[in-house]
Amino acid sequence: MQNLELYIHIPFCEKKCKYCDFVSFHATHDVVNNYIEKLLTEIESKSFLANNFKISSIYIGGGTPSFIEAKYIRFILESIYKSYNVNEDAEISIEVNPNSATMDKLKTYYDSGINRLSIGLQSANDDELKTLGRIHNYSDFLNAYNVAIHLGIKNINVDLINGIPGQSPESYRKTLKQVLMLNVKHISIYNLIIENGTAFKTMLDNNEIQLPLESDLLLMDKITKDLTSYYRLNRYEISNFAKSGFECRHNLGYWSDVPYIGFGLNSASYIDSKRYKNKTKINDYLSLDYKSYMLNKKIDEYYDEIAQVSINSHINEYMMLGFRKISGINTDDFYNTFNKKFEDLFGTALKIYQGMGLIRRVENNYFLTDEGLDVSNKILSDLLINE
Ligand code: SF4
Repeated sequence: MQNLELYIHIPFCEKKCKYCDFVSFHATHDVVNNYIEKLLTEIESKSFLANNFKISSIYIGGGTPSFIEAKYIRFILESIYKSYNVNEDAEISIEVNPNSATMDKLKTYYDSGINRLSIGLQSANDDELKTLGRIHNYSDFLNAYNVAIHLGIKNINVDLINGIPGQSPESYRKTLKQVLMLNVKHISIYNLIIENGTAFKTMLDNNEIQLPLESDLLLMDKITKDLTSYYRLNRYEISNFAKSGFECRHNLGYWSDVPYIGFGLNSASYIDSKRYKNKTKINDYLSLDYKSYMLNKKIDEYYDEIAQVSINSHINEYMMLGFRKISGINTDDFYNTFNKKFEDLFGTALKIYQGMGLIRRVENNYFLTDEGLDVSNKILSDLLINE
């Protein structure tokens, strides 16, 4: 049976961070309760879509899943185990914030089958956390991390951001070193991007914050490369680093064309060559009647968007995600997926970029070199085909 991944979106947060443009907000207990009820019916009603698949990973993200009561997470997982064919060794992850990842919650997660945590630390410097609008400090993170280790959760990711207003390369080095010295198995590092509609965008427009210089950002990238390699974490995707065997299987599946179903507000699904986008407005989502989903002929009413994926857009997505992985694209996998030879489609551009030292080929894999990764957007835009 083919693999299938499940994603569950919990859109609630205690407070909005200043850089955040995700679908996330504060909500009352009643709204959370109604949301979970709706989510459980959605999960159950869509199980027929997964009849011919086995579930290789489950990812509970947000928002802040640890913001809501832990029993809700247990209900969600029980409902999935009841209605889906979950692999015995499935990777089951949850995102948590340091201040709400208490011993009781982590224990409930662990007892419910969760075997991977992703902790949103972002920085080990309390002033930088304040700048970002985060509601935790570094010692909250250490508590959560130690409790998780004590419970036996070995597979832990720590999320970091660099390029924070006021952050120096030295301060970033300190954060990264502090985290690596804990012997973490996985780190995700994202460069801060100022998105429209965020508090940071307004502050930037009003000259209230200053971003680090481009030269400092380059230095931070170099610090990332040097320190992660010193502590033996392999970069396996542009922003992701892991000890051997601790790569995030859910994300690897996503980057490798494994189909997925997303549940909850604003979540996306990709299955049977179609993309589905769930409702983005909470009231629209809460008013859906998922009990009749299977019988309903007007399936469009459940989604903000449904699109058939054309072969060319499928190839483009495959290229964009495939080249994010450090191992790149395997030509046999490409042929098996599209019945087309990789070199027949991209041979000319591949030769040019190989000549420039930006793409390399080892056996049947084409991948971006370190220099290529630095200009990946430019290379990928040349490799896309007209949709
Ligand atoms: S915790 Fe995450 S999802 Fe929530 S506001 Fe902050 S960045 Fe956004």
